[in-house]
Amino acid sequence: MEKVVIIGSGCAGWTAALYTARANLRPIVFTGKQPGGLLTTTSIVENYPGFPEGVDGYELMTRMQKQAERFGARSSFGIVEKVDLSKRPVHLTVDGEPVEAETVIIATGASHRHLGVPGEDLLETKGVTYCATCDGALPMFRNQTLVVVGGGDSACEEALYLTRFGAAVHLIHRRDHLRASKIMSDRALSNPKIKPIWDSVVTEVLDPKQYKVTGVKLKNLKTGVESILDCAGVFVAIGHSPSTEIFKGQIDMDANGYIVPKKGTMTSVPGVFVAGDCADHIYRQAITAAGTGCAAAIDAERFLTAESL
Ligand SMILES: Cc1cc2nc3c(=O)[nH]c(=O)nc-3n(C[C@H](O)[C@H](O)[C@H](O)COP(=O)(O)OP(=O)(O)OC[C@H]3O[C@@H](n4cnc5c(N)ncnc54)[C@H](O)[C@@H]3O)c2cc1C
Repeated sequence: MEKVVIIGSGCAGWTAALYTARANLRPIVFTGKQPGGLLTTTSIVENYPGFPEGVDGYELMTRMQKQAERFGARSSFGIVEKVDLSKRPVHLTVDGEPVEAETVIIATGASHRHLGVPGEDLLETKGVTYCATCDGALPMFRNQTLVVVGGGDSACEEALYLTRFGAAVHLIHRRDHLRASKIMSDRALSNPKIKPIWDSVVTEVLDPKQYKVTGVKLKNLKTGVESILDCAGVFVAIGHSPSTEIFKGQIDMDANGYIVPKKGTMTSVPGVFVAGDCADHIYRQAITAAGTGCAAAIDAERFLTAESL
């Protein structure tokens, strides 16, 4: 019987592990398919406090793991395939094996939606990115022409944020008007640096042969006309999907599948807590994920203490 099982090994999971390990709860972290989480896919993190020169994403996550392990956290490369939250202890199936837990911290993160066009995957971290707050200030984007793909609030926010760094920001949307709220649309469209390109989709990101983004191929969906737009960065803002499939129907979620905490990090199921991007469609940052990981650990520890009294 595990006292604390942590599902996910991103910033939220390892921070929860650090705190529960220091509380002598010997947590076990199931890393899932992506040990270290999303941050391992980025080369430089410039906004995580404590690293004035920036830090490599993989290195930051390795340090978080080492720090938690120093206090007794354990990890396994397991994928949690099934959970039964209907009774206590919680029953989990990890790579076919049963695991029982007094408390569970869900820290499974969220993944961004991809365009699914040629060049996109090859140029990720070489000019294709999914987070303006994370990457917009990087030198490769400064005073350059940038492209944001999407038409919702996130796309508008990304575009507005990028106007601080880029020379021009093209907002590419498949319809002839934005899906975003009126206030965000007005703000974006009245910014002189933001130029909308309507009724259009990106069909290819150029140029993998040069190992950097040099432009995008566009197709106008109404006229069928194809064109090339030169740019140095492509910011994809077409939505995120929380990795919460295995909890569906067992725990309160919003319409998009984000887990909804009740009080602090407590969920609708006693003994089950949530941290990080799988419950956060607003901030989605390493530091906020780590912050809620800390909170979930403290909540789980207090829950166990209250139960033992
Ligand atoms: C390219 C890129 C660059 C970024 N740069 C920055 C930046 O500079 N600064 C910043 O603050 N933020 C940045 N972010 C955002 C940041 O990475 C996320 O906000 C943060 O990683 C969220 O942490 P998390 O722990 O909630 O989830 P994640 O890091 O997504 O981790 C989720 C974990 O859950 C595991 N998991 C999922 N399902 C299961 C399962 N069934 N069983 C077991 N494990 C499972 C995964 O394997 C993974 O380990 C960036 C994101 C991207 C994509």
